[in-house]
Parts: sequence; structure tokens; C-alpha cells
Amino acid sequence: MSQHHNLIGGDWTPSASGQTFESRNPARTSDVIGVFPQSDAADVDAAVQAARAAFKTWSTMPAPARGDILRRAGDLLTERKDELARAMTREMGKPFFETKGDVQEAIDTAYYAASETRRMFGHTVPSELPNKFNMTIRRPLGVVGVITAWNFPVAVPSWNLLPGLAAGCTFVFKPSEEAPHSGELFVRILLEAGVPEGVINLVQGAGAAGAAIAEHPSVDAISFTGSSETGAKIGETCGRMLKRYLAEMGGKNPIIAMDDANLDLVVEGVLWGAFGTTGQRCTATSRLIVHESIHDEVVDRLKAKAGALRLGYGNDDATEMGPVINQKAIDKIASYIAIGKQEGATVALGGHRADGPGLKDGYFWQPTIFTNVKAGMRIEQEEIFGPVLSVIKVSSYDEAIAVANGVKYGLSSSIYTNDIRLAYRAMHELEAGITYINAPTIGAEAHMPFGGVKATGNGHREGGWEVFEFYTETKTVYVDYSGGLQRAQIDNEA
Ligand code: NAD
Repeated sequence: MSQHHNLIGGDWTPSASGQTFESRNPARTSDVIGVFPQSDAADVDAAVQAARAAFKTWSTMPAPARGDILRRAGDLLTERKDELARAMTREMGKPFFETKGDVQEAIDTAYYAASETRRMFGHTVPSELPNKFNMTIRRPLGVVGVITAWNFPVAVPSWNLLPGLAAGCTFVFKPSEEAPHSGELFVRILLEAGVPEGVINLVQGAGAAGAAIAEHPSVDAISFTGSSETGAKIGETCGRMLKRYLAEMGGKNPIIAMDDANLDLVVEGVLWGAFGTTGQRCTATSRLIVHESIHDEVVDRLKAKAGALRLGYGNDDATEMGPVINQKAIDKIASYIAIGKQEGATVALGGHRADGPGLKDGYFWQPTIFTNVKAGMRIEQEEIFGPVLSVIKVSSYDEAIAVANGVKYGLSSSIYTNDIRLAYRAMHELEAGITYINAPTIGAEAHMPFGGVKATGNGHREGGWEVFEFYTETKTVYVDYSGGLQRAQIDNEA
């Protein structure tokens, strides 16, 4: 069984307390991946000191030189893509073809962030006074704590660490306790690419380690990916301590299928959206809002396709859907099956733990479809985070939009229609950070802003050019070359 350590200022060290935890394969629970440090405030403090010490040198390095390191990271991720994806599948369960996609997102992000180091634009703006020059420049934000979920164990850290490195920040990174090995492998690649000692510090552990990062006075900002419940707690700390805070949280993402939609596309899209990553994506399609005239046909076709999905260990080539992450997830899904039945919904497919050949030693759940779901039911409102789709029948576009918007979350959304008028209305009317037209709720691209509204986000965006707004501070600069004192708003009074 391999022993793993934290990375503090370039040294791999055990936790100060000596406490550890295990990471296990969710498809084969007897397979222990390794033992990791269970960190606490003492480890976090050492990591923050190291990140603070490294900040001056890293933040003053020319940004394009930082970009060269990121480009090397992209090259190494490309070389190691299969090896890394195999390890990620073993640790968090999604099939190999999906973990390869996860690594590809990190590769795209590395090259994109590297290219941004030659932009990092400020503005030059006319002054209201003569012989005066106004501009803005960007300064690196500082020491940032990155706390992540396990479901995209390389892509999500990459969305934060890579643009943040480009911007000149240094980091304390805490991966999820469900994917510590994947987090470590990613950090090792960044080190090999040339990220200097202390610039990225890795602290393994559970929620207490995350809380200690948020509470540390020398951490300037937190970027968090996880549940809305945890995100709200960290938000309270950041609010009290006046820290900048990026939060990417839960979802209850709808696909609307209108009566004029291409049914083949709808069925393929819902299948991928709802059961890809075993429904454990923040952007998973957990609600299908379908026009009554196509409801029965769509449900029949979905049942046939979802019922035929091959469950198994994601590193076996035949596997189409992997396990859920742990026993807690199994218990949560089971409780929502009971809630749904109690509320009067019908289990049209699945509804049970899957325990066929090769599945007994893992956390497998059958692809599950609820029909007769009404807006407002808990299974329609709350994030289950598993392979469970709720189907809601509607009779008009307006009703579909009202149902789609009637939840507290607002991450991703989709409409299938061939009516261009409805497509454009939906772009504006769906309350979500992301809307897809004739595509499912998943499929983010690295160079586009990513994030949610309502209880999913707090106004910032990962990805694309907007993430640099988070990782930098704007400095406004006035240069007066008039040779005299010019008083704004006084000397230029109308
Ligand atoms: P989680 O909230 O349980 O944990 C997320 C991270 O927060 C972990 O690293 C955990 O150790 C840490 N943590 C837990 N308690 C903490 C505390 N009090 N203070 C600081 N850190 C703490 O979430 P999870 O189960 O790992 O992930 C699933 C959730 O993540 C789902 O809700 C999913 O929708 C969401 N998610 C969102 C996005 C997005 O971009 N919007 C992406 C992936 C996952």
C-alpha cells in the first residue's frame, strides 16, 4: 500500500499529527490506492507560509515566462494522458474514455492559460484633463486556496491552478478526500513542468483542512468547487475575513424537449447528460422537461437505451457507466428513491443498487428514470448527484421555462427545438450560467466562461477570459505630465 505526503515548499512531508486516510477504488472497494495525510491547521499553516514566501519571485517573473512553464505542463499532460486517466478512473470510477476527456480539459486549459500570459490586457482611457494619461494594469491576486470536488479530479483543479499560475498567484491546493491521488499526480506534472518550489503546495485531507485554509489570515482568496452547503459555509468565513471568493456549486440542470425537436438527438443527449459520469457532474441533466406530445415515445426510447448501459469498472473497455463514489452516495440515492415514490412519482427504470456479476464489490446503482414527476417535488428540486433522471411532462414552452427556472440552482440548461424563435427566447429566459441549444447540459470548453447563477455560483466565472478577473487585481494608474497640479472635478468644472 503506497504512503503519500503533503507537498510543502518543495518537500513531501507527512501530516504534523501523523493522521492518515485511505483512498479506495469505488468499483472494487478492496483495492486500496494509497494512504494520504489527514491534514489539519498546522499543515495548512506551513503550506500557506511556503506559498507566501514564493509569491514575490513568482509574481514578478514575466508572465510569458510563466506561460512557457504552462505550455510544458500541457505537453506533459498530453504525453501522460492515458496513464493519468487510468489512475483517475481507478480512484473515482468514471470510465477511461471520460477521464481522458477530463485530462484533455486540463491540456486545453494549460495551452489557453499559456496564451493568455501574452495578453493580460489593461485599458488605456482618455483623461478628462490635458497632459494626463489614464490606464489600468493587472496585479496578481496573491496566495489562493483551491478546494475542489472529486468528480473532475484533474479538470477542475486545472481550471483554477493554471490560469492562477499564469496570473502570478501562488497556491495551497486541497483536492477532495475522494480523489487525493489524482490531485497529487496533477501537481507532480506541474512540478516537472518547472513550477518552482512553494508556488503550489498540496495539502491532503477532509473538510477540516479546507476550513483551515479558508480561515487562514494569510490566504488572500478562496476558489471552491463542491456542494452549495459547503460553499455557503466557506462564504461565511470569506465574508467575515473580507476575502475574495469564487464558488462553483450544485445544480439541477434541465433539458427542455419541445414537440418539434429531433427525437434521436433528444434521446442521445439526455442519455449522455443524465448518465455520463454516473450522473455525478455539476452539469448533469437531472431533469427532462418534455412536451406531452412526445413524452411517451421519448421515455420509451430512453428506458431501452439507459437500461442497456453496461455497468462496470471504468478501466474495462466495455464499461459505459461506472460506480458512484462511495457508500454515502448509495445511501443518498436510495433515500431519494423512497422520497420520489412517497411523493407519487413512478420508477419507470432502475431504482435499485446494481449487484450483477462484477458489480458486488463496488458502489453501483442502476440507471434510474422517474416519470410522473411534478414541479415542486423534492426529486425535482434537490441535487441527488447520481444516475437518476426526473421526467416532467409539460404542455407549452412557457410552462417548460417556468419549470426549468423553478429551482434554487442555475448552472446549466438546454433546449431541443427547431423553432429558432424559441431557441433565442430560451437563451435569454433560462435562469442559468450556461445554455445549450440542441445539445445536452454538459460539454464546457476551456476557453469559455463557466459558472452558475442563484445557489450554484456567486458571480465569478471559471474558464475563458473571465477567470483572470478573479486571479488578478485591477490597479488604476494616472500619469500627470502637465508639470502642474491639476485637480480633477475642480479644474475642469463645467
Ligand atoms: P463537498 O462540498 O462535500 O466537498 C467539496 C470540497 O470541500 C472537498 O474538498 C471537501 O473536503 C471540502 N470541504 C468539505 N467541508 C468543508 C468545509 N467546512 N470547509 C472547507 N472545505 C470543506 O462536495 P463533493 O461531494 O466533493 O462534490 C459534489 C458537489 O460538487 C456537487 O454538489 C456538485 O454539483 C458540485 N460540483 C460543482 C461544480 C461546478 O463547477 N459548479 C463542479 C464539480 C462539482
